[in-house]
Amino acid sequence: MFVDSHCHLGSPELAGRIPEIRQAMREARVDRALCICTTLDEFALVHALAVENDGFWCSAGVHPDEEDSREPTVDGLVELSRLEKVVAIGETGLDYYRLAGREVADMEWQRERFRVHIRAARACGRPLVIHTRSASADTLRLLREEQGGDAGGVFHCFTETAEVARAALDLGFHISFSGILTFKNAAELRDVAAFVPLDRCLIETDSPYLAPMPLRGKVNTPANVPLVAAKLAEIKALAVEEIAAATSTNFERLFLRNVPRDSAIS
Ligand SMILES: [Zn+2]
Ligand SMILES: [Zn+2]
Repeated sequence: MFVDSHCHLGSPELAGRIPEIRQAMREARVDRALCICTTLDEFALVHALAVENDGFWCSAGVHPDEEDSREPTVDGLVELSRLEKVVAIGETGLDYYRLAGREVADMEWQRERFRVHIRAARACGRPLVIHTRSASADTLRLLREEQGGDAGGVFHCFTETAEVARAALDLGFHISFSGILTFKNAAELRDVAAFVPLDRCLIETDSPYLAPMPLRGKVNTPANVPLVAAKLAEIKALAVEEIAAATSTNFERLFLRNVPRDSAIS
C-alpha cells in the first residue's frame, strides 16, 4: 500500500472529484494521503476533507507564494494544529523563483512568515512541510537559526542538489520525491534519490501538478503516486513493494507519531 505525502485535494481541479479520486486510489492501492493547506482561507476545506475521509490527514499553513494571503501567527497555527487530523505545519518555506522584479532582500516578509511556521511547529510538536525553490541557502539558514530540527519534517517535492539533501538530512529532515523523478531531464535528481537513505525518503504527487511520466501534463491525483514509487524502486534497485513499505513506515513515524493511526481508505 502506498501513501501520498503531499497533495492539494483542496484545489479547484480536485476538490469536486473526491469520490472518484478515492476510487482511483483504491484501485491503485494508495490508501493514505496528506492534504496540504496553502492559505488560512483554504484550511476549512482541507480540514473537512481530512475529517470526513478515512486515510486523509491535513496540514495547517500558508504557502510562500501566497503573498496577499492572510498572515498566520504562531498562536493561530498552534490552535489549528490541535484540531482532529491536523498532523503537520505547512506548507511553508521560501520561494525566490518568481521575484517579479524584486531582490532577495525584498523578500523579508517571506522569511518572517517562514519563521512563524517554524516557531509554531516547535511549539506544537508537529513536523514541518517545507517548500524551497531557488532559496535553499536561506531555507537551511532559517531552519538552523530557529532550531527547526526540533520539529523535524520534510523537504517536499525535492529538486535541490545532493549537497542540500545532505544538509537537510543532517538537520533531521526527510526528503520527498515527486513525479519530477520520472522526467527525462531529471538525471541529477535521480542521483540525489540514489543518495538519500531509504529510511528518510517519502513519495508524493503534489497533485494536481507534476503528473509523473507517462501522464506528464495531465491533472495529477494521489492515485498516481505508485509511478513515483516505481521510479524510486528502479533507482535504488529495490522491489516497488519495499519502497511502498518503507515510505509508508516513514510517513507514520513522521506524521502520525502523536495522533491516532486512523485506518486506511476502506
Ligand atoms: Zn510546494
Ligand atoms: Zn504543495
